[in-house]
Amino acid sequence: MNARRQAPAVDLTGMMEQILTKVRAYNPHADEDRLWFGFRFASAAHEGQTRKSGEPFFTHALTVADILADLRLDLDTLLAAMVHDVVEDTPYTLDDIRQRFGGAVAHMVDGVTKISGIRNPNPEARKAETYRKLVLAIAQDPRTVLIKLADRLHNMRTISYLKPERQQDIAQETMDVYAPLAHRFGMARIKWELEDLAFKVLQPERYFEIESGINQTRSERERLIQRLVSPLQQALDEAGLDCTISGRPKHFYSIFRKMKAQDIGLDRVYDLLALRVITKTKADCYHALGVLHSHYPPLSDRIKDYIATPKPNGYQSLHSTVRIPGGKYIEVQIRTAEMHERSELGIAAHWRYKEGGGADTADLADMVKWLRQITEWEKDVDDPQEFMQALKVDFFDDEVFVFSPGGDVFQLARGATPLDFAFRIHSEVGFRCIGAKINGRIATLRSELNNGDTVEILTGKNPNPSTGWLDIVKTSRARYHLRRWIKSTQYQESVKLGREILEKELVRGKFKTKVDDLVDVAQQMGYTALDKMLAAVGRGEVSVAKITGRLEPPQETAAGKVLTKGRELYGALVRRSTSGVRVAGEDNLMVSFARCCQPIPGDGIVGVITRGRGVSVHRLGCSNLNDPNLGPERLIEVTWDSRPDQTYMVKLIIRAGDRKNLIMDISNALNRTGTNLSSGDFSAEDEVATVTLVVEVTNLNNLEKVIRELGKVAGVESIERFQLGSLSS
Ligand code: MN
Repeated sequence: MNARRQAPAVDLTGMMEQILTKVRAYNPHADEDRLWFGFRFASAAHEGQTRKSGEPFFTHALTVADILADLRLDLDTLLAAMVHDVVEDTPYTLDDIRQRFGGAVAHMVDGVTKISGIRNPNPEARKAETYRKLVLAIAQDPRTVLIKLADRLHNMRTISYLKPERQQDIAQETMDVYAPLAHRFGMARIKWELEDLAFKVLQPERYFEIESGINQTRSERERLIQRLVSPLQQALDEAGLDCTISGRPKHFYSIFRKMKAQDIGLDRVYDLLALRVITKTKADCYHALGVLHSHYPPLSDRIKDYIATPKPNGYQSLHSTVRIPGGKYIEVQIRTAEMHERSELGIAAHWRYKEGGGADTADLADMVKWLRQITEWEKDVDDPQEFMQALKVDFFDDEVFVFSPGGDVFQLARGATPLDFAFRIHSEVGFRCIGAKINGRIATLRSELNNGDTVEILTGKNPNPSTGWLDIVKTSRARYHLRRWIKSTQYQESVKLGREILEKELVRGKFKTKVDDLVDVAQQMGYTALDKMLAAVGRGEVSVAKITGRLEPPQETAAGKVLTKGRELYGALVRRSTSGVRVAGEDNLMVSFARCCQPIPGDGIVGVITRGRGVSVHRLGCSNLNDPNLGPERLIEVTWDSRPDQTYMVKLIIRAGDRKNLIMDISNALNRTGTNLSSGDFSAEDEVATVTLVVEVTNLNNLEKVIRELGKVAGVESIERFQLGSLSS
């Protein structure tokens, strides 16, 4: 918003009057005072701010409103467009907007502001977050996307005023996020303009190559079209059809994409020669197609009926590529005027002002429902990139149509697999899927489905999904069901394991109580159900001793007394709650921690079976494990199972520039983290101090926190964790 040059005189009022002229044409009874109120409020709020172009900043918001007036949108949307940058760029708050313009306008402004407020430095994460915010905002009020797209369109039109790197970033984001979004909402006109503007920035050479190529062949192309239009028009007239034929506007980026995808030159792109036939009724479309084919033979694999099966974004039209005299091909699109308008404007068509109201909102309700469902399905995905991946498939990629053996048509995202298809039919079919046939042949579950495939799902008796399926499925629906299934089976398995562990312990401890009698104990411990406590045991979140400790002690046998006596004597060594480690799943073995490497919870560990001292626990990578006398038969798997408050000793070696108060600062740092110092040692040589500390920590996280805090002490150069055999020992 810095002025680079003298601001040119811009007639803001004139711009506003131009918008009002457009509004009057489709909404003669519009409340113009309300629009003027918005104009005065926003122009005062942005007073003195300028765009990079040097123009007053408010020209931006006005242009956005103007683009939306072209789409014939309702008053609230136009007002929201006019004030859309007020909250972000001026001291006014959302409440100020709500008080002046009402909840609907404030809501849209909030959505737009949130989307632009994403400042994550990682471009991938930022992109993902933009998608997520967009979807959420759109699900709440789809008009938000219209404002955001118009906003982006104006920013793209004026992109040349930005620095080259900014241009690249914004153009890339436009290509990645906004053009696909416009596509998904069926707003072809905006999509094409966004794509061409971004294409020009991202690949200027290719852009100008196509532009000049098209200009050179323009006259020849127009001659060809003329040679075709009049006989076709005549044939349609003779058939009694009231149609208009027009040449189609060219979009450089879509031409470029075709050239690249099919690896062909400009002269072979069919769309360069393209006609559009607009009819009165749907029946006329098919009639016109028949007339067309009776004069020009079609390429059979390029006839598409998007009227019977609209694209997911609602696009409807018949497409056919026909051969014309001279061996050339031309693509013809046939649709009604209404379909045409919707194909150009998409979702915007739903929000158009209509005299007497009564907007056609059924499709829109479907769209919003579907968006909400996606956000619901993806709710528990924490990784923004995973979310984006899923969304890209559902949202932006094209679709394939496949058939069930019974001939029903199913629409799936491109890249979908037989598993996606199975889950599309029913989650039960998905869970029980054991294989698939594509067009009668056995196919792997990873196979990518193609248009027109007939897919048969082979099912087993019982549900048997694998976690690996998450890597195979492409659609949110399938992933959602799989994740839920995995969660619930993991829970069931934890319950089962917890029950086994408790049962064994009850038998071993000679308790009279059975697992199913523990309902009260579970309640005392704060669990709403016995199973939940068992699951906690199974996941290792609660120790068995905690549970049995609440039970009446068993009647002791003579042997039992000996055992109890032994526990009392050696308790510190044999009780698991003290050692905090499980050995090969057993919790009652004698365990000690190797002094050479001092493992703490969070470290990768391994047990070494010693003579007479039980199992000694070492850190993975401890140099003592390299001892040639240590055969693999003496190594045993151990896992952490410590109480959260259990502490472990760790020796740290700190090197620092020697100075006054060093020890005091170190000791203060330890205090700040609440760490107990067990012992310490200090020596200094040539201005370099070496401080050895033995501290008590609960786990690796805790230790790292302590090290971070110590690292902040002035003069500290290095902090090492003691490890026998390492340089610092
Ligand atoms: Mn803006």
